[in-house]
Amino acid sequence: MSSTNRRSFLARGAALAAVPTVAALAGGVFADRASADTLPNYAPIPPSALGPAVNSQGFYVGRVEKNLYWVTDATYQAAFLTTREGVVLFDAPPTIGHNLQRAIDQIASAEGVPSTVTHIVYSHHHADHLGASSLFGKDVVRIGQTGTKKLLASEKDPTRPLPDVTFDTSYSLRVGGERVDLAWHGTNHTPDNIYIHFPDHDALMLVDINLPRWVPFDSFNLNEDVPGSIAAPDTAMAYPWKHFIGGHMGRIGTRDDMVLYQQYVTDIIANVKKALANVDPTPFFAKYGDNEWAAVKEYQAAQVDYASAPVIKKYLGVLAAADVYTASTAFVILESVRLDLGVGSQVHA
Ligand SMILES: [Zn+2]
Repeated sequence: MSSTNRRSFLARGAALAAVPTVAALAGGVFADRASADTLPNYAPIPPSALGPAVNSQGFYVGRVEKNLYWVTDATYQAAFLTTREGVVLFDAPPTIGHNLQRAIDQIASAEGVPSTVTHIVYSHHHADHLGASSLFGKDVVRIGQTGTKKLLASEKDPTRPLPDVTFDTSYSLRVGGERVDLAWHGTNHTPDNIYIHFPDHDALMLVDINLPRWVPFDSFNLNEDVPGSIAAPDTAMAYPWKHFIGGHMGRIGTRDDMVLYQQYVTDIIANVKKALANVDPTPFFAKYGDNEWAAVKEYQAAQVDYASAPVIKKYLGVLAAADVYTASTAFVILESVRLDLGVGSQVHA
């Protein structure tokens, strides 16, 4: 491992260690039992999925376009806009934490602009994207969708102060001569997830939908509204942009990356429909007798295998971790195709 790679690996370890539950688990595995022989084998990550190496402090900051920048710890992403009146920050993932201000300071001193964060825009209410908000104090103006405020009010997490400014469907934020358009187009990943469009920077930020060049996280990114999340990329593509900030992993995306992701989801849907039509439930119910849940579990596992195998084969080497999470995503999409769309319902004769 080169020293740069090793640094980036260590920094990633540190970032992961900051993620609550997952990290406790991974940390335990790392500390106690991990060895190359006991870990499961997965396909190599395609180089196209990896972004720039993080620095010794565990972050990378880069320009999106003009005075719009993005920051990553290789797992999470935030963005910020420098203006003559201060900095507008978009999300504050706790894994990046204090590195957010370090990244901003680095750019602000290089560009000779103020480094004080005056505004934070919330993409959606989830703690993994907002949990460093409180680091920026009480004087920052926080902006979020009405639903974000409602959810945060019920969640009562001191690390995520409520938005001071809210909107229902759209809001144009104007700070220091800059403009950012915020819009809510219905539920998708969460009920409150918004589209953040930078009309003067040719960029769109939409978090937790497409993680450029990676398959979605476990179980279709834990998306609460599956049909809404499947539809979201079309809404995103209706905006003019060249740069896509997806909130996760080490790189930002392009329109081609969005098309590729849409094709991946389309392929899962097509194969799930085939599985619903072609996998015969009879042997499972015959085998498990009165244990209905065992029969259902094994029948559905067979459907998921049937649906995901060709998709994994097609996307290995194209989308990172296709072999890791395609099956769990196929299960979630299968349930939505079956329950929301009514495909494959078996009507008793
Ligand atoms: Zn989320």
